[in-house]
Amino acid sequence: MDDEIQVPVSLPLDSDGFLRRECPTCEQEFKWFSRAEGDDEAEPVSQYFCPLCGVAAGLGEWWTPAQLEYGFGSAGGAIDQAMQDAVADAFKGIKGMKFKPNASFSLDIETPEPLVEPDDMVIVEPPCHPNEPLKVPEASTERAFCLICGAEFAA
Ligand SMILES: [Zn+2]
Ligand SMILES: [Zn+2]
Repeated sequence: MDDEIQVPVSLPLDSDGFLRRECPTCEQEFKWFSRAEGDDEAEPVSQYFCPLCGVAAGLGEWWTPAQLEYGFGSAGGAIDQAMQDAVADAFKGIKGMKFKPNASFSLDIETPEPLVEPDDMVIVEPPCHPNEPLKVPEASTERAFCLICGAEFAA
C-alpha cells in the first residue's frame, strides 16, 4: 500500500468556464474564470482578493461547502478501497488463510453525486485585469473588487 492516496477531484465549471468559489471572509459566493494549468495568461499570484468584500485570502481557501463535502466524499471512496486492498494484502501471505473481501471492512463512505454548476451570476471584467473576468451576483455588479490586485471597480 502506498503511503499517499491521491484522489483526483474534478469540479464542474459552468458553460462559460467559471468555477464557483466562496469567500472565507464574507462567506458570499462568486465565480472566477478557470484557466488550464500552464496557461501563459494566468497571473502569478500568491493570494486572491474577494470581488465582493475585497479581503484577500490564500489560493486554497476558496472552497464552497458543497465542494469540500464532495472532495471529502470522493477521497472517502478511495480510502475505503485502499483499506480493503491493504487488508487483502495482509492476509495474502498467511498460509491456509483465505481472505474474502467483506463489506464489514468498508468505511461505508458514499461516493457523492457529481456536482452540477448552474449558469447563474453576471460576468464582470476588472478594467485593471481584463484577463481575469469574474461572475458575481447581479446585486454586486455596481461595486466589485479585482481578484488579482483588489482594485475597486464598477461593472
Ligand atoms: Zn468576501
Ligand atoms: Zn486588477
